[in-house]
Order: sequence, then C-alpha cells, then structure tokens
Amino acid sequence: MGKSRLEGKVALITGGARGMGASEAQLFIDEGAKVVITDILDEVGNETAKRLSPDGSQCIFVHHDVTSESDWKAVLEQSLKAFGQIDILVNNAGIFERGSILDTELSSFERTMDINVTGVFLGMKVVAPHMVQRQKGSIINISSVAGLDGTPGFVAYGASKWAVRGMTKGVAKELAPFGVRVNSIHPGIIDTPMLQTFEEAGEGVREMVRTRIPLGYEAEPIHVARMALYLGSDDSSYSTGSEFIVDGGWSA
Ligand code: NAP
Repeated sequence: MGKSRLEGKVALITGGARGMGASEAQLFIDEGAKVVITDILDEVGNETAKRLSPDGSQCIFVHHDVTSESDWKAVLEQSLKAFGQIDILVNNAGIFERGSILDTELSSFERTMDINVTGVFLGMKVVAPHMVQRQKGSIINISSVAGLDGTPGFVAYGASKWAVRGMTKGVAKELAPFGVRVNSIHPGIIDTPMLQTFEEAGEGVREMVRTRIPLGYEAEPIHVARMALYLGSDDSSYSTGSEFIVDGGWSA
C-alpha cells in the first residue's frame, strides 16, 4: 500500500504534544494528512509541531485545555483558518491518577472526569456540526482496556474510560445518518510518559504488569497510531460505534 492513506485529509489531535498523540501526528503526516496538534504543554507542543513540519505547512500547534468550551471553539476556528476543514478528530488527551475506592479523593475523581470525559464530550459537541455539514468525518475517542473491564486501583480512570466507550456508541448512532463515524480505541500498556505512574507505584510494578501481557512486551505509541490511521482512513468506512483493542492480548 502506498504512503497516502490520508491524502487530502485534515486531522485534529488533542494531547498531541507528546506520547501517543505525537506519534499519531507523525504517522498521519507521513500518510499525507495535515495535522493540528493541541495540548496544554505549549513548549513541547510547539517543538513537536516544528519537528513534524518545520515550515508549518503540514502541522501546527494550538494551545488547548480540553475542559474549556471556549478553547475548543478557538481551536476549531484556528484549524479551519489554517487548513480549511477537519476530517478526523482524535480525542486523545487524558490523565491517569491511580487510586481505589478507598483512597481516591473527590478532587482526583472530578479532575479525571473533567479531562477524560468532559474533554471528549466537548470535542464531539464542537467539531461534529462541522463534520455533519460536510456529511463526512471520523471521530476517534481514546479509551483504554480499563474501559472494558473492572480494573482495581483505577476507580476514577476506569469510570472515565467506560464513559468514553459508552458515549462513543451513542454518538456513533446519532451521527451515522450524516456519514460521520465514531469509534473508540482501547490501548493496553503503552510506553509513554503516562506509564511513569507505574514506576511511582513501587519497584517491580511495571515489570509485574508486563508479565501479564500475552505478547510479552509493552506497546510503543506507533502500535496505537496505526490503529488510529486505520480508523481515520477510508479503509474503515464500514466501522462505527465499535471498540478497537490494541493490548497485546491483555483483555483476551
Ligand atoms: P501522555 O503522554 O500523558 O499524553 C497525554 C497528553 O494530554 C499530555 O501531553 C497531557 O499533558 C495532555 N493533557 C492533559 N490534560 C490536558 C488538558 N486538560 N487539555 C489538553 N491536553 C491535556 O499520555 P499517553 O499515554 O500518550 O495517553 C494518551 C491517551 O491514551 C490518554 O487518553 C490515555 O488515557 C490513553 N491510554 C494510555 C495508555 C498507556 O499505557 N500509556 C493506556 C491506555 C489508554 P500533561 O502531561 O500536562 O498532563
């Protein structure tokens, strides 16, 4: 297959300064897309955009707190100004705070829901009308394997990722008549800065988690990016409202 699966498409990727979002941005550009990456990390975000497209013709960075509706409106406006359209929205920004029902503070639960759930809701709410008007588009919501089953020590994160999975299905049915597809990706253990929390949980925790992965190794962000590429491209034109799992067999 040639290197042009996203030729002519424009993608908006939240939390794209680093980690999986940055990897998706790189792959999408390699496949011919123009990409807007957004994040609260301005310095890293600007560096990433410059690295991916030194002259700004393929990629721009826009400051964006996904919990702010006015930020979302500004991001939509700037994306349209730069590249004229949005074909793919990747709701990737998210945080992970460890904690069980016995030790999770309300503030941690609320922060997690705000970024991981309200952020995704606002993204779909603000960008969907543009896609509906064009009668096409692909929305990719990043959930987790923690949105597929019950994960001890993940009370807030698990609730948020189940919510993303549920919203994805309902909105997929709402937007299907307008030619707009909505799917969720469920990564397992991916080597990004987010995994730092496993290191902080204690010596050997990350190694212990790794031994539970049937394929025997943590994924690189590119493994998830390739799934996002499939969902963003027309190769997945008959898939909507579905879960796409990238977990090395973890949930099997
Ligand atoms: P990451 O490296 O921490 O990247 C997430 C990015 O989102 C960070 O740059 C983060 O900035 C940013 N962000 C946080 N709050 C934000 C806000 N309010 N508005 C805009 N951006 C914000 O994490 P990742 O591992 O690439 O995770 C990407 C997605 O995959 C997340 O939704 C995560 O839950 C999901 N996921 C990850 C794994 C894994 O093993 N890594 C597994 C399953 C699912 P800060 O650093 O300042 O917070």
